[in-house]
Amino acid sequence: MLQDLNPEYVRPLVADDEFRFRCHPGVSCFNECCRELELALTPYDVLRLKGALGLSARELLERYAVIERNGEEPFPRVYLGMVDDGRGSCPFVSPAGCTVYRDRPGACRMYPLARGIYQDQAGGQGELFMLVTEPHCQGFAAAASQDIDGWIGDQELITYNAANDQVAAVLHHERAGGLPPDAAEKLLLLYDLDGFREMVLAPGFAAPPEIGRPDPEKCAANDLALFRYAIRWLRFELFGASNE
Ligand code: SF4
Ligand code: SF4
Repeated sequence: MLQDLNPEYVRPLVADDEFRFRCHPGVSCFNECCRELELALTPYDVLRLKGALGLSARELLERYAVIERNGEEPFPRVYLGMVDDGRGSCPFVSPAGCTVYRDRPGACRMYPLARGIYQDQAGGQGELFMLVTEPHCQGFAAAASQDIDGWIGDQELITYNAANDQVAAVLHHERAGGLPPDAAEKLLLLYDLDGFREMVLAPGFAAPPEIGRPDPEKCAANDLALFRYAIRWLRFELFGASNE
């Protein structure tokens, strides 16, 4: 459902535009879109999935992720690996639907919308949306319609978008193109949050004074608090204190 953004099926949406869509087990295409995907995972997707599956972040990444590195890009890309079952199925699809539904990746929640973010002229982030109307998808036959905000609320995307925007601010930083090779390993610590936790809670961790040490109790028990600290640490490591 996500990889074939054929321009023929994509149209921009603005704030008050409405679209008809409803996906449910009664559609004849149920589950058919959970195959042959290039489904990019964000650090927050991994945070949610590892919790749903009771795995450490490293176990989740080893079992389910494909990490691609392109020598010309400073940061690696992380994808959900599809199963070699002759149909390229998502590892989490079942006849009854998505087995990680409550913690499914943000891109799965967002569909049939696609969201892009960009750096605006004031240095802030802007967002744009597209509606992806693939012909095989029967969800567009629904009577119910909604706008972008309604969809984001229904799909519980606010936390996903907020976390992903923090990562995007690092990826799209004006100095990201000139980073040394170890920047990729540092970025991957956002995905391997349990490894990051071990690192920052170890007695020898030298926390930059500019960001301070993490609160041990919060970071031991709260992945989202740890993620927020990891973002601050990464920004400092890559771009320095002036970019806090
Ligand atoms: S209605 Fe669309 S999103 Fe839902 S299962 Fe069918 S193809 Fe997938
Ligand atoms: S995570 Fe769930 S919704 Fe997303 S592709 Fe896999 S089965 Fe489908």
